Amino acid sequence: MPPLLSKSKYIAGLQCPKLLWTQINQPEGIPEPDTITQYVFDQGHLVGEYAKKLFPGGIDIPHDDFMGNVAATKRLLAEKKPLFEAGILSGKIYCRLDILNPVNEDEWDIVEIKSGTSVKQVYIDDVSFQKFCCEKVGLKIRNCKLGFINRQYVKNGEIDPRELFILEDMSSQVEEISEGIEERVSNLLEVISNKACPEMTIGQHCLAPYECPLRAECWGFLPENSVFDLRGGKTKQFSLWEQGILSIKDIPDDIPLSRQQQIQKECVMTGNVHVEKKEIRQFLCRLKYPLYYLDFETFGPAIPVYDGTRPYQDIPFQFSLHVVESEGSEPVHHSFLAEGTEDPRPQILRELQRLLGAEGGIVAYNAGFEEGVLKELVEAFPEYTDWLEGILPRMVDLLFPFTNFHYYNASQKDTASLKKVLPAVTGKGYEEMGIGAGMDASIAYGRIMYGDATEEEIAGVRADLLKYCQMDTEGMVWVVDRLRKLSD
Ligand code: SF4
Repeated sequence: MPPLLSKSKYIAGLQCPKLLWTQINQPEGIPEPDTITQYVFDQGHLVGEYAKKLFPGGIDIPHDDFMGNVAATKRLLAEKKPLFEAGILSGKIYCRLDILNPVNEDEWDIVEIKSGTSVKQVYIDDVSFQKFCCEKVGLKIRNCKLGFINRQYVKNGEIDPRELFILEDMSSQVEEISEGIEERVSNLLEVISNKACPEMTIGQHCLAPYECPLRAECWGFLPENSVFDLRGGKTKQFSLWEQGILSIKDIPDDIPLSRQQQIQKECVMTGNVHVEKKEIRQFLCRLKYPLYYLDFETFGPAIPVYDGTRPYQDIPFQFSLHVVESEGSEPVHHSFLAEGTEDPRPQILRELQRLLGAEGGIVAYNAGFEEGVLKELVEAFPEYTDWLEGILPRMVDLLFPFTNFHYYNASQKDTASLKKVLPAVTGKGYEEMGIGAGMDASIAYGRIMYGDATEEEIAGVRADLLKYCQMDTEGMVWVVDRLRKLSD
């Protein structure tokens, strides 16, 4: 069979012809999806399964056999029932539709299901390609709809798909964007059939609508400390790149830079670390002992698992807490990691109330996140409202001196995240840890709680989670110690 242009390939081709060509002609050159991308796929699949419940009596067409799926679709169209995973093949173009719903005498509605919470341009392109394929085989399409997750839905007992999804009619947007689709499809088919890979230069298209999997390859020529490591957004970065400036150190003096960008340039050029002692001392004065270094790990499933929670709500399942009684004293560590499939929130609140004491600063890194989690906890369990009112004024954000460039090390690049700041400030890092990022922790927890992990895997992941979260709060203790020395 000749290479086909499917809907995902069509979207890839609209993003970049080189990406499309590589997907078809050198698929071994496309890196395997990372854990986060795979997780997004898995969530999408789960959401798709719930969406089928919106169309009772529908027929799920098996799709492990490509031609079998196409043949079964052809046969089942005559039954005039909702079809799930219908495969439409016309010449060199192909699509599989989430839902094809019969309406009126001889018409169909296309319903595309997305696990996102709003309409995006790329979804409209996706649906327009499906409509194009359907019309090529003679199907009459009445309306095109997009089903996406209703973020306001609150689970109460069994999931109600009619409440979980928002179905929006996209027919007019699809109509509008369909202009010129015949030509676009023909151009992309030509790209596919070319012997040579199209030459493409890097640009904003590498980042949207999806981060391109070939980024490491195409962007690999950039020097260390390139203009894409500059703080302040993509517009400035691409504007410098378009002027032929690749490295931060080569930015001419007459190009205006913000205070932060100027600090970055100086650090790159001199190799020095930028330290503003007075401002760091002022920040440290806000830390009142005993100090409680707090970090939550959360997970946010698309389909809520606990009553009273919404899709994608950050549900804490773990915290780490280091308590330092007075300056220079040994930190004492406490931790919590949920067990079982019970809602962990009541126990987390009880533990925090017991451990956080009545006074002293509560230090978090990007504290707005921890504050948000606490507020949502108390919204669900209002009996803790008075307690929270005493907690919030005690919160201090350790991100502050870094986001304000009171400290900057060029190794941080354009970020003030703890994963970059900790090694920059203390020389210690997250290497060789089984879990080394918040999103990985969230995915790993979801897998051991609601997946089919073995006892052994569960024990391994739990050990990794405990180690990872502990590192986040212990790392904060080290950072504060180091800031004290630096500001002396
Ligand atoms: S990284 Fe950019 S230029 Fe390279 S294939 Fe992807 S989108 Fe195209």
